[in-house]
Amino acid sequence: MSRLALDSESPERTCDGEPSVDDLLRTYRKALADPAELFAAATRLRDTLKGRTITFSKKAFFNVVNLCSDTCTYCTYKSEPSQAKLSMMDTDATDAMIRAARRCGCVEALLVTGERPEARYPQARDWLKREGFSSTPEYLADISERCLDAGLFPHTNAGNLKPAEMRLLARTNASLGLMLESSSDRLGADGMPHRLAPSKIPARRIGVLEEAGRLGIPMTTGILVGIGETAREAVESLLAIREVHRRHGHIQEVILQNFAPKLDTAMRGHPAAGGRPFMVLVALARVIMPHMNIQVPPNLSLHSYRGHIRAGINDWGGISPLTPDYVNPELPWPAIPDVEAGCRDMGYRLACRFPVYPEFMHMADRRITDRMAAVSDGHGLVEEGRWR
Ligand code: SF4
Repeated sequence: MSRLALDSESPERTCDGEPSVDDLLRTYRKALADPAELFAAATRLRDTLKGRTITFSKKAFFNVVNLCSDTCTYCTYKSEPSQAKLSMMDTDATDAMIRAARRCGCVEALLVTGERPEARYPQARDWLKREGFSSTPEYLADISERCLDAGLFPHTNAGNLKPAEMRLLARTNASLGLMLESSSDRLGADGMPHRLAPSKIPARRIGVLEEAGRLGIPMTTGILVGIGETAREAVESLLAIREVHRRHGHIQEVILQNFAPKLDTAMRGHPAAGGRPFMVLVALARVIMPHMNIQVPPNLSLHSYRGHIRAGINDWGGISPLTPDYVNPELPWPAIPDVEAGCRDMGYRLACRFPVYPEFMHMADRRITDRMAAVSDGHGLVEEGRWR
């Protein structure tokens, strides 16, 4: 018998004991036919445990360097040195972006790089040398310091970092990010999207998340849905994240990112993920991790993103009024007032958060939290005058 009791009157009792993967898959398949019961449970859990506020982070996306040692067959972010989309931001460019971000009222500086570019590309090593650094994480620490001085709060997503690198970045970053994407080793087999991406070996990714937990660093992670994994593997990936969080208590947020095919990639003909199967998985994530901050990016389903509120999310992630989503450049973010109107129509309030959630602020460096306190609304979110 299933240990998932979605019709419970008490959200805290939605899960009676620990549902097995089979329990969860049964619920998933049932909800594909009729999702009403699962969506109602997810809504109830979110409303009870997270309230009726949906957060977002007003950010500027710093495409610091998009050279990458790996090759994922769905990725349009990665550039080769000869391509027009190559980005290697120098100090002047990052300073200009910092000024523009402040002018636009951005709060978060999202610093993104490919996986260890200098390990593969002499161009990346030369670029770092010109800037006066020997590694990408060292340069990221310098950019983060300048962001923090200017009143922006950095969040770095630079792939599989070593412990010393994470320790260095935690001095200036409110949180760090590393998508698990999937816990399935199968996605690294011949013909699969991670075949040429050793950094995506699930044990390595989980190892980095574990290490961040041991270091007490708040982490954002998540799964990429629709790149060839089965429903069972998607559920197992969510359970793997839950296990890491249970051990260390540092996963501040889980992103469910639906795959969107890119014309210049090998997976251009692969179907996009979305619609009911994706929403059902989002709702299941809420049931699996009732207290977790669960995010779905609104630009990946621009015409239907509001529906994810019904599936139990409580965050839209970063939205930028300034820069494109370089990972999904064909998909613009919705305007923040439109997102706010959408939330309001469904009975929810939109609020701007820092790159670290209020309940994880105690894990961030004191220098960062002191600066946050100066522009906080008193509840750990950003005061309206700072971001509007
Ligand atoms: S998804 Fe990340 S690791 Fe994979 S090729 Fe793109 S930048 Fe590199």
